[in-house]
Amino acid sequence: MLSRQRFETDRRQRTEPVPGQGNRIARWVPSRILELSPYHADSADGLLKLDAMENPYTWPSEIKDQWLQIISTVPLNRYPDPQGTALRQDLKTWCGLDLAADLMLGNGSDELIQIIAMTLGGRGQVIMAPEPSFSMYSMIASVTGTRFLGVPRDTEFRIDLQACLDGIAEHQPCCVFLARPNNPTGSLCSNETVHAIIDAAPGLVVVDEAYHAFCGHTFLDRITDHDNLVVMRTFSKLGLAALRLGFLAGPKNWLDQFNKVRLPYNVNTLTQVSVRFALEHMEWFQGCAEQICNHREQLSIALLGLPDVQVYPSDGNFLLMRMPRGRGTEIFQCLRQSGILVKNLDGSHEALADCLRVSVSSTDDNQAFVAALRNSLETVDLRESS
Ligand SMILES: *Cc1c(COP(=O)(O)O)cnc(C)c1O
Repeated sequence: MLSRQRFETDRRQRTEPVPGQGNRIARWVPSRILELSPYHADSADGLLKLDAMENPYTWPSEIKDQWLQIISTVPLNRYPDPQGTALRQDLKTWCGLDLAADLMLGNGSDELIQIIAMTLGGRGQVIMAPEPSFSMYSMIASVTGTRFLGVPRDTEFRIDLQACLDGIAEHQPCCVFLARPNNPTGSLCSNETVHAIIDAAPGLVVVDEAYHAFCGHTFLDRITDHDNLVVMRTFSKLGLAALRLGFLAGPKNWLDQFNKVRLPYNVNTLTQVSVRFALEHMEWFQGCAEQICNHREQLSIALLGLPDVQVYPSDGNFLLMRMPRGRGTEIFQCLRQSGILVKNLDGSHEALADCLRVSVSSTDDNQAFVAALRNSLETVDLRESS
């Protein structure tokens, strides 16, 4: 079931070469870009930001002061280490990476997705992912002129393994993305499902572990068992979203190819130095993650007490909720008016009608959210009956 996506033949044949700005855009910007909508992130000015799975906690002042000391020594006049050698070494040690595997750094894992798509994708190639999933997979596929095959999940957002295997057999994707746990659904697919997909896939399988800190499951130790598995992680959801650091762990022969596509100085020195410092303070990050996991359970219990809201189980630091039929966007706006920003997924995918996604935050934030949601549900209900 390929998503509807047209491929231009020859952009020069499409439009008349009449001068004028509009015509130039239409003539030179490929249709796959013209038809794309830019990634939409709502402005969070003055709002309680619960839309992007950020860590609500910041470093205590002892840690922050040490960090300021360290970054004050960074030579801003020099280019970064192009390979990020020291940071890569620290990361390998931190995650106990097998010696036969290697690790590549990205300006966020978004950039790693882009590098993979630029290396493997392009005209005639297919990138596959179970849908709904992280929107960047299909968006980056479009930008790189790669067909995107979104394989629908079942009604509980579980992966339809047979449909995936059929899709793989029929379309021979260069790459399959499996977000584990999945964003925005929060669901975690089984080890068996991942193994079956790795075994069936002719190309690369990327296990995206952006929410690893909140679930603990990993395929990092399986990399060397396969010749087509890479694992992607990010520091964004753990608490360093501003720094933009993601990494890809996998067999050296794959990473050698991706490294040709990666821009030489993609990870800046402040980020390299700061993440090395952060690795010495992982117990603080781990503590935050544990707290968020406890809050996740409390928050889902509180939400289950709200009439008409369906809450999905989550292994990430967020919860997916379905609002009463036809009311999703209205409730999103109501929440916004009461000062709370969540992610509105209504309209983003047919399986996500009336769905909102909320980051799990501090106890106070979560309580404020539940209270605002209760009010919003009542407001919408009143409007309906009036
Ligand atoms: C947030 C997210 C990312 C992107 O993380 P960055 O490192 O901030 O670019 C990648 N994959 C999934 C599934 C995510 O939810």
